[in-house]
Amino acid sequence: MTAPTQRDIFTARRRIAGLTERTRLVPSPDLTALSGVPVHLKDEAAQVTGAFKLRGAANKILSLDEDTRRRGVITLSSGNHGRAVAHVAHHLGIPATIAITGRVPKVKADAIAALGAEVVVAGATQDEAEAYVLDRLGPDGPSYVHPFDDPLVIAGQGTIGLEVLDDLPGVGTVVVPLSGGGLIAGIALALKSADPSIRVVGVSQDRGPAMYHSLRAGRVVPVNEVDTLADALAGGLGTSNAHTLEMCSRLLDDTVLVGEDEIARAMSFAFARHHLMLEGGGAVGIAALLGAKVEYRGPTVVVASGGNIDPQSFLEVISSADS
Ligand SMILES: *Cc1c(COP(=O)(O)O)cnc(C)c1O
Repeated sequence: MTAPTQRDIFTARRRIAGLTERTRLVPSPDLTALSGVPVHLKDEAAQVTGAFKLRGAANKILSLDEDTRRRGVITLSSGNHGRAVAHVAHHLGIPATIAITGRVPKVKADAIAALGAEVVVAGATQDEAEAYVLDRLGPDGPSYVHPFDDPLVIAGQGTIGLEVLDDLPGVGTVVVPLSGGGLIAGIALALKSADPSIRVVGVSQDRGPAMYHSLRAGRVVPVNEVDTLADALAGGLGTSNAHTLEMCSRLLDDTVLVGEDEIARAMSFAFARHHLMLEGGGAVGIAALLGAKVEYRGPTVVVASGGNIDPQSFLEVISSADS
């Protein structure tokens, strides 16, 4: 399949409109004062499934024809993508299988099972979970909804870029959490098609940042999966990356890393100043601004990508974070 285009993102916007929320941009007076440019948060924690992944999953699954859909869908997930796929499958009344690793938080696994999907714990790493998925494919088998490396998934995530352009036409910089790169590749495609001078900056956790190292090496670099507050960002670029590494090397202006303490502080900040309950992976963009790691070119949007964390863990993080 060829790389997605701006047209694919407009098509995606229309296709997913009935299943997804058009999320709000929240002005942040504190981040504005700190950075010297107007800063807004894009609140994807308010997305129907608690994270942006619904956009890409809906675009992919709704593009399958009736016969293909009926055979069901399958994927691997660190949690949020699985929930999104399970949500769309439930809506369409088709079977879904989600392979997870033992590292996926219980709150996420439970939410997937509650939607009627089959949850399979398939190994300790995303690569092992992917091997399980690839094994289940076949001519009469389910369709693979890749968590990031699929043109339709990337185009779905790109609808965030269209919404940002609509709501803040003067946007100059966009800061985006980065793992496999589907989110940032879609957003960057939407924004740079409108104006190539818009700066797009990716933020990853410093514990096992696969895309960060792969961009610098010019090829897929394997990483160790280790525990991090940003559990949604753990994992590698897949065994045969076809799109996101190429798109990220072509479209991104910068990638930066944040540490565990910085992520905790950003979660605490978002809660105190914005009443936003963000999971670690959803807060890394804010962490990068708080740590002065981003170069700005005008009005800035920070994507707050998800909020799926159980209250107990959340309270533990914010009560021990220094603010
Ligand atoms: C999946 C995810 C990301 C990263 O998206 P990629 O497309 O893998 O780069 C960021 N934040 C949250 C909350 C996620 O679930």
